[in-house]
Amino acid sequence: MRKTIIVSNRLPVKISETEGDYSLQPSEGGLATGLGSIYREGNNIWIGWPGQEITDQKEQEKVTKKLRKMNLMPVYLTQDEINNFYEGFSNETLWPVFHYMAVYAHYEQTYWDAYYQVNKKFRDIIMKVAEPGDTIWIHDYQLLLLPGMIRAEMPEISIGFFQHIPFPSFELFRLIPWRAEILEGMLGADLMGFHTFDDTRHFLNAASRILPVTTTANVVSYNDRAIVVETFPMGIDYNKYAEMGSDPEVLQQIKNLKENFQNDRLVLSIDRLDYSKGILQRLQAFELLLQLHPEYIGKVVLYMIVVPSRDQVPQYKELRDEIDKQVGNINARFRTLAWHPIQYFYRSFPLETLSALYNFADICLVTPMRDGMNLVSKEYVASRNNNDGVLILSEMAGASKELIDAIIVNPNNIGAITRAIVDALNMPLPEQQRRMKQMRTVVAKFNINHWVKLFMTRLQEVNEMQQNML
Ligand code: UDP
Repeated sequence: MRKTIIVSNRLPVKISETEGDYSLQPSEGGLATGLGSIYREGNNIWIGWPGQEITDQKEQEKVTKKLRKMNLMPVYLTQDEINNFYEGFSNETLWPVFHYMAVYAHYEQTYWDAYYQVNKKFRDIIMKVAEPGDTIWIHDYQLLLLPGMIRAEMPEISIGFFQHIPFPSFELFRLIPWRAEILEGMLGADLMGFHTFDDTRHFLNAASRILPVTTTANVVSYNDRAIVVETFPMGIDYNKYAEMGSDPEVLQQIKNLKENFQNDRLVLSIDRLDYSKGILQRLQAFELLLQLHPEYIGKVVLYMIVVPSRDQVPQYKELRDEIDKQVGNINARFRTLAWHPIQYFYRSFPLETLSALYNFADICLVTPMRDGMNLVSKEYVASRNNNDGVLILSEMAGASKELIDAIIVNPNNIGAITRAIVDALNMPLPEQQRRMKQMRTVVAKFNINHWVKLFMTRLQEVNEMQQNML
């Protein structure tokens, strides 16, 4: 029987260890939910790193057995590989360049070597299970070489690739010393997907300028193969967020928020700690708001959640320190005895708390410098069952191409963000509702299941087209 193999750096599972015993729990991320309808079926399988360093062979065997029962297959990474492949090439080379922060990029040969080796490691494990007629769907920037490596072993197999982060313009991409190898790796796929038309266009442009390929509108001809490159903006599990609003635990938390913030308007900000998220600029805009509009002192609160991430990397640690400093300064400067301008949390929260905040916040302020899609903005919209509330969204987030009824801002323009907050605070209810309804229609329709179906159907069509061309 033909099967589908999903491949991503991380498996959709959380492993916890108590006294040498590993327990596994499926993770609730959007992608895991969306792809759940695929990998849990029949003999389909999801291959990836379980997210934990397990060195002991016996332990590995135990965990592998448990994972296999969940249709998951592990790729175990050593600490060295985690350092050089994951934190190194993926997060210190590709991540900054692809997010237009090339000054943060390190171009280390050891990182690249590890990246190449780990992509090969993934290939070898895939080869153990892949059979002719199978479909392989590879995800994201940690595995850019994998499509090409699999293609070399199985020229006929169907391969889809989706990149969840931006693809930068040629002028940035060309900075990477291994740019040609990366493109060759990606072009092993039959269908390649990006979140936005700009990402797609940037990829096509980079391919035609760096490799001896010919490109037409959205097809790259390379090594006698036609690779289709298209835009598939990823959605969220809309119903989950819409329905969470009536969960008893969420209702209780909304009630608590109402009691705590009786006289305050709440501006919500939720991100992972990352320099691509524009957190410092957002703080500056909020400070400017209080400076230019003292009438909001005591009345508006910025509720800011920063989820810890990559804090072993020096730039992330520095960013965290700088956020601490700015939050401290703003709170010290503007607080009153009864009111703090910024409620800042450096931790993650359960879904119920996020849902309560999405439901309660008057404004959601999402101002990344660069973001492949940005799911927080869509989760806020999906949660607004009353159709009120205002989304302020950076034009540099992929989501801004779909959520055109948000107040769209340039995240570098501090004054514009401040003005957007003022506009949002003063937006009449009918206008809030008109905008929110439009956005909810988009988020409801182009949800995660729709996205998965669209990509898989297109991959099948591309394969049929290739068969007909032979
Ligand atoms: N999130 C979470 N716990 C938190 C805060 C946020 O799981 O405490 C989730 C949030 O619901 C969203 C994801 O983290 O689904 C962030 O995705 P996004 O695309 O906005 O940014 P990324 O972190 O992928 O760059």
